[in-house]
Amino acid sequence: MALVYPPDPDRVEEIFRRFEKADPNPHTELDFANPFTLLVAVALSAQATDKQVNKATEKLFAVADTPAKMAALGVEGLTPYISSIGLYRNKAKNVIALSRIVLEQHGGKVPLERAALQALPGVGRKTASVVLNELGIEPAIAVDTHVFRVSHRLGLANASTPDKVEQQLFRVVPEPWLTRAHHWLILHGRYVCTAQRPKCESCMIADLCPSRGLFVGAAAGKASPATKRKAAKKARVPRRKD
Ligand code: SF4
Repeated sequence: MALVYPPDPDRVEEIFRRFEKADPNPHTELDFANPFTLLVAVALSAQATDKQVNKATEKLFAVADTPAKMAALGVEGLTPYISSIGLYRNKAKNVIALSRIVLEQHGGKVPLERAALQALPGVGRKTASVVLNELGIEPAIAVDTHVFRVSHRLGLANASTPDKVEQQLFRVVPEPWLTRAHHWLILHGRYVCTAQRPKCESCMIADLCPSRGLFVGAAAGKASPATKRKAAKKARVPRRKD
């Protein structure tokens, strides 16, 4: 199967039909109790794993699960809870600043609208997308490293930046699956289509994947180091703000 773009709509439909059959209601693996704790967890998760964030927020949210309680902690009080997470100094400043803005300008409620969310400190397009999508407010496909890699390997996208990949996914993913596509692609990338040694032998969409031959069987053995390096480079997401 050749890696061509745009992908065949029947193939795309079958990919998402199988994702849905295997996991009809996918959700984020970040722990949260309300829109505010979801926003904080997503903001903390930039360049950190969900496990690292959950470990930190378990104790943090026990004492600060509202903007008022978080603002009362202040940067000094918040820092020890999140110091195990990358970029924690900046994240602490942003979380306290956004908590104060939510309190003072939005009556203590997280504004669940893209422009207002993205106006909060440290909240970029990707963070806003994850929050709005998780709460079922707006279909969004936040393109992180997993979504970027899996989309390329499956031939759902071929663009070189996360924003362009997101636009391509919106064009090719059928509407009924748009809200859940983000989760399926992330989970598939995290547990099956991993960056190193993807588990193609047990992949439920292997017969629909044009990249399978790069990793399995005779073709994989024959691929030159340069071809493998090129494929790995192409599937690596460029860094961006959030
Ligand atoms: S067949 Fe392999 S490369 Fe293709 S989606 Fe599955 S795990 Fe990823």
